[in-house]
Amino acid sequence: MNEYKIFINGNFVDGRGGIGEVINPHDNSILAKYHIASREDVDLAVKSAREGLEKWKNLSINKRIRILQNLSKLLSENLDKIAQIETLNVGKPINASKTEISAGISVLEFYIGAINKIMGETIPTLPGHFNYTIREPIGVCALIVPWNYPLMLTLWKLSPALACGNSVIIKPASWTPLSALELAKLCKEAGIPDGVVNVITGPGNEIGSYLVSHEGVDKISFTGETKTGSEIMKLASNTIKRVSLELGGKSANIVFEDADLEDAINGSIWAIYYNSGQSCEARSRLFIHKKIYDKFLSEFVEKTKKIKIGNPINKETQMGPLVSKSHLNSVHKYVEKGLEEGAKLIYGGKKIDSKDLKNGNYYMPTILELNSTENICFKEEIFGPVVVVMSFESEEEAIKLANNSKYGLAGTIWTRDVKRAIRVSNSIRAGSITINHPLTAIPGLPFGGYKQSGFGRELSLDAIELFTEKKSVIYKFDETPVNPWNL
Ligand code: NDP
Repeated sequence: MNEYKIFINGNFVDGRGGIGEVINPHDNSILAKYHIASREDVDLAVKSAREGLEKWKNLSINKRIRILQNLSKLLSENLDKIAQIETLNVGKPINASKTEISAGISVLEFYIGAINKIMGETIPTLPGHFNYTIREPIGVCALIVPWNYPLMLTLWKLSPALACGNSVIIKPASWTPLSALELAKLCKEAGIPDGVVNVITGPGNEIGSYLVSHEGVDKISFTGETKTGSEIMKLASNTIKRVSLELGGKSANIVFEDADLEDAINGSIWAIYYNSGQSCEARSRLFIHKKIYDKFLSEFVEKTKKIKIGNPINKETQMGPLVSKSHLNSVHKYVEKGLEEGAKLIYGGKKIDSKDLKNGNYYMPTILELNSTENICFKEEIFGPVVVVMSFESEEEAIKLANNSKYGLAGTIWTRDVKRAIRVSNSIRAGSITINHPLTAIPGLPFGGYKQSGFGRELSLDAIELFTEKKSVIYKFDETPVNPWNL
């Protein structure tokens, strides 16, 4: 069985906090073992990153570009192998793993293209002075990643961090640490100097908290639950670290009466059930105009029944298991509570117990009809294959329902009316709105949240601001004396 060590200063070394197990969610068998970092290991990782920073930020831009191009090439060459590891570890269908890793490579390539375009400005102010700005790396960045898109989200953070000249310590989720450690091998092979990329594994509430409180860390880029994000903000405040947070969501999906129904049904099914609903931007609240409600819902149910659920390693599988047994139980508890509070079960609502899947964490795609926005399933992020549906009669009502959430990550609108599409899009308080299609995360387009879904935008040139400091330089070149107090 593979045993994964932590990666510090270019070497895989023993973690001094013990050994953890990585579980395959398809059958709950042990997939691999991993080393748990101790606080001393975190100290070493920070020291290594501080030394790595000096090497990386002083490298010529062209060298940095070439090394990251090597990494991109190595990722492409190893795509099938890493996709397989990701699928066995997370339970996501193999085709999805491949697509997501490709998308991660595109993000890396986007930032490689940006490296030699990170520019300053010259700003005319006082006569006899030349004023300009430059962007400098922030320093040592802690990149804290959740379990739902392990490698892709690591690349969303690592790519701009390295492009801007920072060094990093990656802390993957404990359920899914494998792909980040595989990535570390490729970073070394690509020629990234030792110490620039470090990976530590272990429990977030212990070594994660220690890392985000560490004096030697300058910036935290976090993706995960809103509750954890709030805790991290507190811990980071002691040393005024730079923080960017990509947090939870409960995004709306609004289908107007003039929508292309076929597209809206197919797109809405994908928008909730992709990755078994374990997506921050999952459109988990479906609002359907009253005039088309019955027809839409019955076809939505019929098509949901056709989703190919199964072992994620099989190419035809469209929906795999949930990431862990405890997460499966958490999803089911939400459904039970929602039903107790008056939701009507339209489809699903239980674990899948067929012979070949019964050992895994498989949950039926679930549809709950609600008559109250007070229902727990309307309010809370369930993070599983559970959609709540409600009808609406007017545009104003749909907007009100969509905005009735503490989150504001994404939203989708289905309509053929261009004016309405823009009006509704402008009225929804969320970071990404898609109109007549479900895909929200596209390299080059800013991705991030309003409200309690976080702040800071990834995936785009905006992330350059998240990973640099801006310095103003004021240079006096004229011959007049410097004597402001007439001394
Ligand atoms: P968690 O917040 O539980 O964990 C995320 C990461 O933070 C893990 O690596 C975890 O480690 C670590 N962590 C936990 N506690 C601390 C702490 N006190 N200090 C430092 N690090 C800590 O989230 P999940 O892994 O459960 O991920 C699911 C969540 O991520 C959902 O809410 C989802 O919406 C959100 N998400 C948001 C996205 C966005 O772009 N807005 C994208 C994808 C997901 P460990 O695993 O060891 O606990």
